[in-house]
Amino acid sequence: MKTKSRLKGLLKFQEPTDLFFSLYLNTQWKDEQQRERVRIFTKNALHTINVAAYPPEVQESLRADIQRIETYVEALIKQTLQVELAGVALFASYARDLFQTYGSTVPFTNQCTLATHPYIAQLAAVGREYENALVIMVDTESARIFEMEWGEILSELDIESEVPGRHKQGGWSQMRFQRHIQDHMDRHHKEVAEQVIRRFDQGNYANVILYGQDRILASFRSFLPERIQERIIAKAALDITVPDTLVREKTLEILHQKKAQGEREAVTRLTETAQAHGLAVLGLLDTLEALNKRVVAQLLVSQNFSRWGWRCPSCTLLGEQIPLGCPLCGRELKTVDLKEEMVWETFRQDGEVEFISDPSLLAHKGVGAFLRFR
Ligand SMILES: [Zn+2]
Repeated sequence: MKTKSRLKGLLKFQEPTDLFFSLYLNTQWKDEQQRERVRIFTKNALHTINVAAYPPEVQESLRADIQRIETYVEALIKQTLQVELAGVALFASYARDLFQTYGSTVPFTNQCTLATHPYIAQLAAVGREYENALVIMVDTESARIFEMEWGEILSELDIESEVPGRHKQGGWSQMRFQRHIQDHMDRHHKEVAEQVIRRFDQGNYANVILYGQDRILASFRSFLPERIQERIIAKAALDITVPDTLVREKTLEILHQKKAQGEREAVTRLTETAQAHGLAVLGLLDTLEALNKRVVAQLLVSQNFSRWGWRCPSCTLLGEQIPLGCPLCGRELKTVDLKEEMVWETFRQDGEVEFISDPSLLAHKGVGAFLRFR
């Protein structure tokens, strides 16, 4: 859901006459060689584009894009920009007034393409892997609430509540004291729950993660409404005083596990549904046919799927074996990266995309889809 809304700005661009640069870089500057690799990669990629082969009106736009991409990458390498990011994605089309960059806390694989729409597979895969999460650490008198998106902590709220009469416990009966502590904890948990509810409703979080002691979490949970309880994907013991970096690390690990489990379940469900001739297809040809019929609800594609095919720039038909002309409208075809086109087409049909690292899908050429109808 969140992935799509972040990609929405890019998904509107598709015109047979326009050209878009998509550049992905691994900007983990572990060593000086990595900067040099990025510089050389970008330079080579941009210089292999034969600008003179394009119509004069397109040439101007291409030259402008090449120039500003080079300037941007140079600044990135000199570390005057976005130093903390492990990956950067850039989309540019001078003619369409587009120049947009996205930072990522996980590295991208270097990739540079010029096509009739932005190439979004890598960006979408990172977004899917690290869906947003609302993280709550809670004990009897303090709490920390983190809002995370795309693997990054966007905000942190710390709550401390005073325990009234804590030092005046002398003379209290054991029972009265226990009651007092319980009341106080409940008030604190209610206050934390209110902050959680506000954030949850604003951010539409796919995942809620709780950190704390079992007994305390059980008590805190009772203050959360059903809609939040059902999004709790994990509870774990983590000391409330640990640094942010550790909270992030632990959370990414949990999200990764959830993703891996979800993948295996999705592939099993896809295989069973397709074999029972239900609303699912397996393999490249049937998936392309479903995309051409615009009936894909969810595409499942292997992370390492790699294959060339064709696309008609006029009627947007997609195929694998390259014919002489478009079988539908007869126009000249373009050779395309099928993974990028399938991902793009699914989003354009308002479907979801699941990127599969689990090898189970490879038995079916690494691709399949759930359908809206047949
Ligand atoms: Zn066509």
